[in-house]
Amino acid sequence: MSECVFCRIVAGQIPSTRVYEDDLVLAFMDIGEVNPGHVLVALKPHAENLFALDDAQTAAVARASARVARAIRAAFEPAGLSVYQANGAAAGQTVFHYHVHLVPRHDGDGMAFTWPVNNPPREQLEAHAARIRAQLA
Ligand code: 5GP
Ligand code: ZN
Repeated sequence: MSECVFCRIVAGQIPSTRVYEDDLVLAFMDIGEVNPGHVLVALKPHAENLFALDDAQTAAVARASARVARAIRAAFEPAGLSVYQANGAAAGQTVFHYHVHLVPRHDGDGMAFTWPVNNPPREQLEAHAARIRAQLA
């Protein structure tokens, strides 16, 4: 079994609340979310960071991120959206598998990197994911 938590999520060995999926990308709710609609967009194949991606993988993550971002906007009407990528422990990364964070921003949120902080109830994650999925359909 893979040591990588996101490889295990992609393989279905760790449960996740899925939002979007295609051949190369899986988007799911972050269990450390602090905002409704905080989604992780992960490349399915294991690649540690942006340096390791080929053009098709890069395009696939960007396309999926934009689609999910539009669905988050339609579902939650945030004031803005932050898109985060980090590379390496020195940049605060905790899972070394390429992914993008989509964090809706509401008035007063600020820009603090406060995740991962909590462990939202599964029902709350599922409710948020369902609202996003409805906009992707
Ligand atoms: P990083 O800190 O590497 O940029 O992001 C890793 C993210 O993965 C964190 O926000 C953390 O909450 C999330 N994460 C870690 N393990 C799991 C998990 O088992 N399930 C889900 N849904 N998210 C996870
Ligand atoms: Zn991995």
